[in-house]
Amino acid sequence: MRELKNLDWEHLGFIYRPCEKRYVAEYKNGAWSEGGLSDDPEVRINECAGILQYCQECFEGLKAYETSKGEIVCFRPDLNAERMYNSAEYLCMPPFPKERFLAALEETVKANLAYVPPYGSGASLYIRPYMFASGPVIGVKPSDEYTFRMIVMPVGPYYTGGAKPIAIMVSDFDRAAPHGTGHVKAGLNYAMSMHAHEVAAKAGYTENLYLDPARRKYVEETGGANVFFISQDKKTFVTPKSDSILPSITKRSLVYVAEHMLGLKVEERPVEFAELPEFSECGMCGTAAVISPVGRIHDHGRDIVFGKSMEEAGPVTMKLYETLTGIQLGTVEAPEGWIYRIA
Ligand SMILES: *Cc1c(COP(=O)(O)O)cnc(C)c1O
Repeated sequence: MRELKNLDWEHLGFIYRPCEKRYVAEYKNGAWSEGGLSDDPEVRINECAGILQYCQECFEGLKAYETSKGEIVCFRPDLNAERMYNSAEYLCMPPFPKERFLAALEETVKANLAYVPPYGSGASLYIRPYMFASGPVIGVKPSDEYTFRMIVMPVGPYYTGGAKPIAIMVSDFDRAAPHGTGHVKAGLNYAMSMHAHEVAAKAGYTENLYLDPARRKYVEETGGANVFFISQDKKTFVTPKSDSILPSITKRSLVYVAEHMLGLKVEERPVEFAELPEFSECGMCGTAAVISPVGRIHDHGRDIVFGKSMEEAGPVTMKLYETLTGIQLGTVEAPEGWIYRIA
């Protein structure tokens, strides 16, 4: 039996909680350092570091779980390694090699095994790899030095209330410009979403739904999660396709689950906002919350409601949620290569 920290696993919240070890590697003189674990939760960087002046940063988010068999696993971390590689390239940062990302993941999770919440608690170990320009710049250009860190923390569900539907609102702001950074997992996309998020929160909504910035005709995604819809006849899974939405690993996995495990038809295509009343279910998907059912979308004085609205999640959304979390927790057989065993 592994040692477990004495934490209230059922009431962790989704908050920062430093663990003993984190992984750190530095990029200097054209190469990544060997890297390794550190006890130090503080970062010391130059006052003119590129991250502080021009926000050169990208990140990832994934989770480690204890399965029903007592194994510690991650869900498709190769896709996080790849996406972070692509994000770094787009932001003119030296990408962290994918096999090193996976090695760092193993090392970091193994060093913090006592923080992986026990099976059945509903909690998980959230893993946040990130990379930022640590070398000084003042003229606008990519930095010469970078830091890669991977930190972990035990977390509860992102939205308390479990599978209870949430209400979101259509934003008057845009998350990402056409041909901008919407497809890149960068902190800068979140910096500029905070104002819009505050506006939504003050109006009583959990999240913003963003429309395509060029025409405000198509649905994109929410501030931190992709979206999907279920047709009236419950036979089709529909999810928006656009160059400015973040390629969610959860979404890509749900597309597979819907088609190959639940026998649904899948449509990945531009989705017009005007179509939304035709759907019977709506959900948000991402690593943090896996799936959050959406009961209602508020749009300037009118509401689009799905199924039983805020009362309960629709049956297909629930089935998708149960199947995907079952795969992650080892109670549903996983497609080849999805589960990465760490301990
Ligand atoms: C991280 C993120 C998602 C979800 O991606 P997952 O790989 O499923 O966690 C969706 N939208 C945005 C904007 C994100 O940053």
